[in-house]
Amino acid sequence: MADYVDSYYARTRNPSPARGALKGTVSVDAAIIGGGLAGLTTALELARAGRKVAIVEAERIGWGASGRNGGFVGPGYATSLSHIAMMAGRDAAHDLYRLSIEGVRIVEDNLAAFGRSDDVVTYGKLSVLRHADASGLKARQDQMARDFDYKLEFRDKDEVRAVLRSAKYYDALFDPKAFHFHPLNYAQGLASGIEASGGQVFEASPVVDATLDGATKVLRTSYGEVQARDVVFATGGYTGQVSPKLQRAMLPIATYVLLTEVAPERIGAVIGVPWAISDSRRAGDYYRLVDEGRRLLWGGRITTRTSEPARLADMLRATMVSTYPSLAGIRIDVAWSGLMSYARHLMPMIGQMQPNVWHCYGFGGHGLNTTAIGGRVVAEGILGASDRYRQYAPFGLNWAGGPFGRLTAQMTYWTYQAMDFAKEFRASRAG
Ligand SMILES: Cc1cc2nc3c(=O)[nH]c(=O)nc-3n(C[C@H](O)[C@H](O)[C@H](O)COP(=O)(O)OP(=O)(O)OC[C@H]3O[C@@H](n4cnc5c(N)ncnc54)[C@H](O)[C@@H]3O)c2cc1C
Repeated sequence: MADYVDSYYARTRNPSPARGALKGTVSVDAAIIGGGLAGLTTALELARAGRKVAIVEAERIGWGASGRNGGFVGPGYATSLSHIAMMAGRDAAHDLYRLSIEGVRIVEDNLAAFGRSDDVVTYGKLSVLRHADASGLKARQDQMARDFDYKLEFRDKDEVRAVLRSAKYYDALFDPKAFHFHPLNYAQGLASGIEASGGQVFEASPVVDATLDGATKVLRTSYGEVQARDVVFATGGYTGQVSPKLQRAMLPIATYVLLTEVAPERIGAVIGVPWAISDSRRAGDYYRLVDEGRRLLWGGRITTRTSEPARLADMLRATMVSTYPSLAGIRIDVAWSGLMSYARHLMPMIGQMQPNVWHCYGFGGHGLNTTAIGGRVVAEGILGASDRYRQYAPFGLNWAGGPFGRLTAQMTYWTYQAMDFAKEFRASRAG
C-alpha cells in the first residue's frame, strides 16, 4: 500500500489507523470502487439508508485527488453555466447548477456530523479578475441572485488591492457561503461515518478484475472478493483497466500545489484575508493561508503529463512570484501533484453503464461539491428513491480521444493561456 503523498494534508492529518485489506469473500448490497470523495459520499448515503456497503480502495482513503486538492468548496462545475446550457439546454443547466449548490450543503452537513470540533473551516471565497471587466462581474452577480437566489458581493479594484497587494488584480466577486477546509480530514471523517453506520472500508485493495454481468456482481482483489447487487465505479483520475469503457471516456489531467515555509510577516504583507482566493483564468491560480495564517498553500497549472515534473516546486513558485514578487525568496516546504478526471464535455459522468453497474467520476477541478451531489444522486438511484442521476444523462461516456485527446487538451489549455495572457497584457497597457 502506498502511503499518502507528502503534502500539507498528509503532514497535518488527524490520526487515523490504516484499515485492513480485503480478504476472503464479503457479501454486500453495494460495492464501491474508490475511496475518494465520490465513493465515500455514495457509500455514506447508502449506509445511512440501511444498505450493507463496502468500499474497496487501492491505496488509502483520500489518497487520490480528494486528499490533495486546494480545499475550496463552492457551487458550480468544472465548466461554466453557459457551456452547460449550450450542451443541455437552459432549464436543464439551471437544474444542474442547483444540484451543485446542494453539493456544497451536503459537505457542510457532513462536516457538522463527522468533522472534529477542532477541524478548521474558513468561510469566504474571492474570485479575482486579472483584467478589467466590472460589468461582466456585475452581470454574473445579477444572474446568480436572479436565477439561484445566490448572493455574491462585488469588490472593486481598490478594495481588492487593499487586501491582496498584487498589481495583477482588478475587480472581484466575493462568495460568503463558499469555504475552505482540510479535505483529507474530511475524507477520513466520511470513512468513519460509513463504518459507524455498519459499512466496511478496505484499504490497500486494488480491484484487478470484475464480473459485472448477472444478478450478483463480483469485484476481485489479490486476496479477496466482494459480491454485490450494485457496483459503483468512483475511481476518478486514477481509473484503470478494470473498466476499459470508463478509462477511455476520461482524460487524467495533473495539477499542482505547494506549501511555503512558515513566514507570517512576509505572507501577511501581501495577503490580508483568510479567504480562499482564485483568479478567473482557465486553470488559474488558487491559494489560501493555512497553519493559522503562517503559511501559504498555492495551487495552479494543469498538464496532460501525468508524471511529476522534476522542478515542480520551482515551476509553481514562479507562478506565485509573478503575482506577488515580494515572495521571491520564500522557501517551499513541500509541493505535490494530483490527477483529476476530465471528460471532453468537462461535466461529471454519472449514471449506469448497465443495470446495477454505476459510474460516478469526471469531476475535474471542481470536485468537492460535485462529488457530494454525484454520490447522493447515485445512492438515490440505487435506493430507488429518485432518478435525479438522469439529469447527468446529456454528458455521456464518449471516447476522450486517448493520446490525441491528451494532445488536444494540452493545446486547448495553451490556447486559453495565450488568450488569458492577451487580456492581461491589454489590461496592463490600459493601466
Ligand atoms: C491538486 C488538486 C487541487 C484541486 N483543488 C480543488 C478545489 O480546491 N476544489 C474543488 O472543488 N476541487 C478541487 N480539485 C478536484 C477534486 O479534488 C476532485 O475532483 C475530486 O477529489 C475527485 O474525487 P474522486 O473521488 O472522483 O477521485 P479521487 O479522490 O482521485 O479518488 C479515486 C480513488 O479511486 C482509487 N482507485 C482507482 N482505481 C482503483 C481500483 N482499481 N481499485 C480500488 N481503488 C481504485 C484511487 O486509489 C483513488 O483513491 C482539485 C484536484 C487536484 C488534483
